[in-house]
Amino acid sequence: MKLIDLNRDGGIGANCHFLQIGDLNIVVDSGLNPKETGRVATPDFAPLRGLHIDLIIITHCHLDHIGSLPVLMREHKDAPVVMTTSSRMLIERMMHNSLSVMVRQKEDNAQKEPVLFTHDDVDRLSKRLTGIPYNQAKRFRGRKDEITLVFHPAGHVAGAAAVEIHHKKRQIFITGDVLFENQRTLPGAKFPAGHFDTMIIETTRGNTERPTGKSRVEEVARLITSINDTIQRGGSFLMPVFALGRQQELLSILADARKFGKLVDCPIFAAGLGMDLADYLDEIARKTKHVNFSKNVIKDLKIKPAPRKLNPGEDPQQNAIYIISSGMLVERTPSYTLASGLVGHARNTIGFVGYCDPETPGGELLAAKPGDTFLFKTANVKAKIKARVEKFELSGHADREELLEFAVQATPRSIVLTHGEQSARDWFKQQLALKLPQTTVIDPVPLQPYQV
Ligand SMILES: [Zn+2]
Ligand SMILES: [Zn+2]
Repeated sequence: MKLIDLNRDGGIGANCHFLQIGDLNIVVDSGLNPKETGRVATPDFAPLRGLHIDLIIITHCHLDHIGSLPVLMREHKDAPVVMTTSSRMLIERMMHNSLSVMVRQKEDNAQKEPVLFTHDDVDRLSKRLTGIPYNQAKRFRGRKDEITLVFHPAGHVAGAAAVEIHHKKRQIFITGDVLFENQRTLPGAKFPAGHFDTMIIETTRGNTERPTGKSRVEEVARLITSINDTIQRGGSFLMPVFALGRQQELLSILADARKFGKLVDCPIFAAGLGMDLADYLDEIARKTKHVNFSKNVIKDLKIKPAPRKLNPGEDPQQNAIYIISSGMLVERTPSYTLASGLVGHARNTIGFVGYCDPETPGGELLAAKPGDTFLFKTANVKAKIKARVEKFELSGHADREELLEFAVQATPRSIVLTHGEQSARDWFKQQLALKLPQTTVIDPVPLQPYQV
């Protein structure tokens, strides 16, 4: 198999792999780098020019996996695109959102280039998207060769899949983004045990040691206590969240706490894409039973839409909970603007509940110390950190030890590392060299072809 990592910046960024299996040309995911704008935010599709792409596979609907899909599809006009049935229900909404983010960036003058695609493109291209149920083998043909593909539930987020591909006697496994633990709204990954020849594994949490005394249940309890403390001392609690998955998970967790009388009485604000997606998740829950979510939690919690106009550097002083995106406090998002107003007051808390890239404002805020001056560059706000900044271990990604265990038991001939910072990949490299000395471990240099 030939492999090229098309994610031009490495790290997590714009996930996209080109695989040549037999005579089939396959692309897995087509993401957008949340830290960049314009063409440099997309994968580098140059190595695909002039090639006939037989199949595009989507692992799940987060923007770092689908944000540039319309661009790729426009360049490869007859490539079919497959994903799980649940992802098929989400993907159009997520691609329209990807475009809305680009348009907003352009309006803010952060981007001079034209936007990469239009809402019409999304509507037109969507006819080529096909959903396949989990655990159902499906065949795809090239000119001579044939592969069989199976999607396995990967936890992480509704619709997320690992991809198993068979070609002749060769077995390939791509984890995608994965979480083995059960979440409140979604069961954990169910992967097949046993041998694979080649594996492509995500490495997001490679630099995070498995925390002791921080099980999900304990972390949920700690989160609720911290929220109650904050509200009781007159402050507000901001949870920056990814709109797909995390926001609905947190709403369900708060609804449980409220039902059992564990959550103080206070207004809860939530807004944006995540609230729309609540309807989609509700539908997926009813149609597929893969998700455990009901949009009734929005009524139960009396969720209010977040104020349309948040002023940078201003604390709205609502003594409330805010569940808003983006999860990594990316510039010009509601959570970024609100954080710029909350951070300067000791009564408030900013509680992170998911992964933050260290180079995003969220990652930088987590690395800063109380009393440091923090610059919200695009909001034009400089503030002394007086609010509590906390991190709760409710990540949507598997512990590195669990992933390592899964990789080791499969005794692959080769493992390709992806979706992680350099230090995270390095941990896997070291551990795999110890535990699987016969296995070739590849940490691909972007755009360089590898024979795997
Ligand atoms: Zn993801
Ligand atoms: Zn991802």
